[in-house]
Amino acid sequence: MIESFIEKHNLPKYRLNQFNEQFYKQAIHSFDELTTWPKDLREQLKKELEFNSLIPEKQVHSQKDNTTKVLFKRKTNGQYIETVLMRYKDGRNSICVSCMVGCPVGCSFCATGKLGFHGNLSAREIVDQVMYFKRQLVKENQTVTNIVFMGMGEPMLNLKEVLGAIDTFTSPEKLAMSSRRITVSTSGYAPQLKTLLKTGFKGKLAISLHAPNQELRETMMPVAKAFDLEQLFTVLKDYEKQNNKIITYEYILIDHINDQEKHAKQLAKLLKNRLAHVNLIPYNPIFGVDYKRSSKNNIHKFSKILTDAGISNTIRVTMGDDVNAACGQLAGQAG
Ligand code: SF4
Repeated sequence: MIESFIEKHNLPKYRLNQFNEQFYKQAIHSFDELTTWPKDLREQLKKELEFNSLIPEKQVHSQKDNTTKVLFKRKTNGQYIETVLMRYKDGRNSICVSCMVGCPVGCSFCATGKLGFHGNLSAREIVDQVMYFKRQLVKENQTVTNIVFMGMGEPMLNLKEVLGAIDTFTSPEKLAMSSRRITVSTSGYAPQLKTLLKTGFKGKLAISLHAPNQELRETMMPVAKAFDLEQLFTVLKDYEKQNNKIITYEYILIDHINDQEKHAKQLAKLLKNRLAHVNLIPYNPIFGVDYKRSSKNNIHKFSKILTDAGISNTIRVTMGDDVNAACGQLAGQAG
């Protein structure tokens, strides 16, 4: 965006540096605050470039914890997306970004999947979700510490724009975040994952696994029919080799579906001798889906079986479920 403005007006390189410093690092609230640029140039910029690609329509804050969900309207076509800021007690401010409007994957437990697919977000729209919260955090002398691609959409199916956004997040001139602070999550598109690895991706990887065997996975996640566990784990092995980093496996625990003792044992076997951490997520109810959250007893039993088998795991503290901002609950409507 700004690069083409600089080029079109034949501006010196330092104008770009000034822009990046104020727009991304200082997180200014409008082009009027771009005070390192002369007024006439700012006015020209305002005429040619939108300060924001998204309009925040509604913001809801969880009473239970420090989670904030925002409903954004896309300036291009009026569609809605959602983004969540999770403030942790240890000081981390993690933003869960969306990369699509809806999602074509259709996982059985996910509110976004129920919407169907309505479009890909641009890299700019992904970045603007983060900038919205960064502007709020900077006012409190805080900043964005982590970004997770776990909102609406499957990042592997909008890879070009996702990579463009990651470039802005990690570029030293822009948001200058360490790639260790960026997590990309996928439901298991093995070929696209391979492409991501070929780019030299150094961020963290999270796999939405949710079932410990092929048969059950196919009933919960249609992607599993196209790319089976064997294909997926072949690519994941490459990631382990390339980055020597632990992969997080997301596992939503659903009562009597995937939370039995046999499932925990199968999962332990599947992840044995891998650089793996399992994130056990108590299921968050969504409208129109008949699943129930596993009992506390089953959740702890499941976790213990993994621990006893030497598989690192944690039970995720559910954040934002009172405002439908928890995992699997984003559906483009705040509140
Ligand atoms: S879990 Fe992820 S991949 Fe599956 S439908 Fe929801 S948003 Fe799409």
